[in-house]
Amino acid sequence: MSKADDKLAFTSKNCWEVYNGKKDQAEMQKLAARYLDFLTRCKTERNTVDYLAERLNKAGFSLGGFKNGKGMKIMQGKALFAARKGSRGPSAGLHLIFSHTDAPRLDLKQRPLREQSGVAQAKTHYYGGIRKYQWFARPLALHGVVVKADGSVIRVTLGEEPGEPVFAISDLLPHLAAAQADQPLRKVFEAEKMNLVLGHQPAPVASSAGKSAKRDEKNGAKDPIKANVLRLLNQKYGIIEEDLYSAELQAVPAGPALEVGLDAALLGGYGQDDRINVFLSLEALLADLDKRPARTQCLVFLDKEEIGSEGSTGAKSRFFEYCVQDVIEAWEPRARFSEVMLNSRGISADVHGAVDPDWQELHEKLNSALLGHGPCFCKFTGSRGKYEANDAHPEYVAWLRGLLNKAGVPWQMAELGKVDSGGGGTVAMYFASYGMNIIDCGPAILAMHSPFELSSKADLYATWLAFRAFLQAR
Ligand code: MN
Ligand code: MN
Repeated sequence: MSKADDKLAFTSKNCWEVYNGKKDQAEMQKLAARYLDFLTRCKTERNTVDYLAERLNKAGFSLGGFKNGKGMKIMQGKALFAARKGSRGPSAGLHLIFSHTDAPRLDLKQRPLREQSGVAQAKTHYYGGIRKYQWFARPLALHGVVVKADGSVIRVTLGEEPGEPVFAISDLLPHLAAAQADQPLRKVFEAEKMNLVLGHQPAPVASSAGKSAKRDEKNGAKDPIKANVLRLLNQKYGIIEEDLYSAELQAVPAGPALEVGLDAALLGGYGQDDRINVFLSLEALLADLDKRPARTQCLVFLDKEEIGSEGSTGAKSRFFEYCVQDVIEAWEPRARFSEVMLNSRGISADVHGAVDPDWQELHEKLNSALLGHGPCFCKFTGSRGKYEANDAHPEYVAWLRGLLNKAGVPWQMAELGKVDSGGGGTVAMYFASYGMNIIDCGPAILAMHSPFELSSKADLYATWLAFRAFLQAR
């Protein structure tokens, strides 16, 4: 191929080669360190919204309103909307980045506690698309809230502090797995067998004579281990078994997010789908607070993406609409909602599946994302012939690639796997219905939805720069 031919062809760029300068490398490492801290701290949607609110608040975003030009609203502690005024009013169109705060996990059932065969367990009901086998025989932590009948909210975090006990789901020993091994994967791991081991020691029976000792001996015979778990929970949190009915407790992988590889070039941790985009959109907004944007900048952090975007905190809820109405009311009361929406540009910031080195046959190479080659645009998602897809308009794709080319940020475009090998959806289609331009864009990761997802430091950095370019664009 001649040099002239090279100029006509497109190849995606490796971000490690683009950002090999000292300054970029130093910035990349700092960003990665902040990200690992964020990922370690934010294991649930509530942790995530707390983190966002704290950092936005420090940056001058006031909670509850938009009077001063920078504001945010929170829905049920699980979704958050933040907006910053631009030099042009909302009617010129908002620049919005959407991402989701929830991740696949195991929720405790409303009546979780039981005791059998020498252990107390908590029964679980999985949330989102998990591969069940990945959750057995590994340390798990418990996060969430318990709300008492008097309305008081008790926050629970167990199994994260160094030295603190963790939880686990026992797996079948291979010696007895002969029958199990012959079953198809879909059937072999039963959700009702995903029970979290909570304890093993029976409640203490007082040895000294007296009324309490007698009572313990009499009642202690039935489920003494469960009784001990309840006793410990009561000591620590002041709760009783009935309080668990009004609780949301989530079992998630315990422990910190970590660098991966001899070169520490990858980042491993739970919940990167989609907290990597939660983090990057926040960091993109906060990085350029010294520059007055042309357009109103909005970050929308949504819950329930992994289970169909339902509920009052998901993308199908009216929360987004209410917030935009408040923004219009505060900054340009005469603007029409439809006008604002029709002029808006959105990025549905979600992760993409990178080509898996061990499963390359499931990807169609021309239209796949490579780890390290920058944020990945996904023009459409869906499955079975683009069913349930937002198919972004080519005019918008052209504007975006022009924007990133001008900013010198590498990008790639991909669809998720070979046609008919599976598929998936994002929140893009719900916001497209307002008439705004929107496209899926985010880093490609490995082992998506697993307890230890892998992302590239170079993609983290490139996506941050891409989001900054988008928020600042005219
Ligand atoms: Mn996602
Ligand atoms: Mn997902």
